[in-house]
Amino acid sequence: MSTPTSPQDTFVHGRLINLVRTGQAVTRPLLEQETGLGRKLVAQRVQQSIDVGLLEDGDLAPSEGGRPSRRLRFRSEAGHIFAGLIGAAEITAAVLLLDGTLIASSHEEWAAADGPEPTLAVLDGMFDKLARKTRTEPWAIGIGVAGPVDFTTGRLVDPPIMPGWDGYSVRSWFRDRYDAPVWVDNDVNLMALGEWHRGSPNDGRDLLYILLDTGIGAGLVAGGRVFRGDTGAAGDIGHVHVTDDPASVCRCGQLGCLEAVAGGWGLVRELTPRASESPLLSARLAARGTLTPEDIGRAAAAGDPLAGPAVLRSSRVVGETVANLVNFANPGVVVFGGGALRAGDAAFEMFEATIRRRVTRLAGRQLSVRRASLDFREGVVGAGLLAIENLFRPDSIGLWIEHGTPIGRASYLQRAAAG
Ligand SMILES: [Zn+2]
Repeated sequence: MSTPTSPQDTFVHGRLINLVRTGQAVTRPLLEQETGLGRKLVAQRVQQSIDVGLLEDGDLAPSEGGRPSRRLRFRSEAGHIFAGLIGAAEITAAVLLLDGTLIASSHEEWAAADGPEPTLAVLDGMFDKLARKTRTEPWAIGIGVAGPVDFTTGRLVDPPIMPGWDGYSVRSWFRDRYDAPVWVDNDVNLMALGEWHRGSPNDGRDLLYILLDTGIGAGLVAGGRVFRGDTGAAGDIGHVHVTDDPASVCRCGQLGCLEAVAGGWGLVRELTPRASESPLLSARLAARGTLTPEDIGRAAAAGDPLAGPAVLRSSRVVGETVANLVNFANPGVVVFGGGALRAGDAAFEMFEATIRRRVTRLAGRQLSVRRASLDFREGVVGAGLLAIENLFRPDSIGLWIEHGTPIGRASYLQRAAAG
């Protein structure tokens, strides 16, 4: 038996699914209460969702007064999301369930500076292997990249560490190969989203994620949504001006940017000519001819006399900038992530102490400062969550809900998302 459906109906249907999916209303009576819809209509729509495999009946929920009712469960295993994270020197790929649970992932070292085509081919090869291993195909694809992204078009804009990617549409490349809608965002925005949803402790407060790695960036999740600003450039704090020291020319061309002074590449530039002051770094340099940010982090963790103080100074300078951001945006949580996590406890402690010293009393009153908790997977988890968020948007879900799957409707979904 099928019921004729109108756009109004599918909108309502989508809303019911989202209420169950997000845990806001998980029984038929609660859905009636939440939506103001009649019992018959709710029962009908719920049955339809069960028939297409998106919901299922679970155990009995205790109720106040009336008869107990079945708890509904969103079947997060009904579909899969493919997610990728393209950093300057590495690529991560993952398959996730529809609630953001990561079920398989892989990781490869790769220089994104080699250009978009070969890089995306590597990521696609990783997706291919994961698809065969998990026997899945994507309902949607989320991609994070280490550079500024114009979120509406999915194109990179002038990324300093990914030359050759300027104006490139990662979305089009994947849309040509997959019948799935594709969303692209800056990697640090997605790390923030991943930690906000799946990190621990997790208390739903506004979260400011700080990436301290080769470069430096920030991502803010406010009210459960990534704050992207007008054009998608929000959070690009690596190029905040912090000094007039003539030695601090940045790779963006400006003088005195935060990451030129405190980012991993800035430390490499500063410490390489002084490597003779450090037994560890001079041995590294003699063996390989260059130093990396990881070398410096590892040396700092081992108590190196050159790298140790340099990493502490970096944490302090970043902490000073972050204190300004906290004073401005008043997040509940600041998360410290990236390769700097491997530089030892002292780096994190200096970061937290500097923020606490510099924030106003009200902004600091309930502020938590913690380390990233998803073992360097928060970015790829966030990329999956971005795709899920868009697939289940109130104006998207109606485009596929009647069929129980978005497969075959990618172009409508992508068009709706752009509008
Ligand atoms: Zn700069």
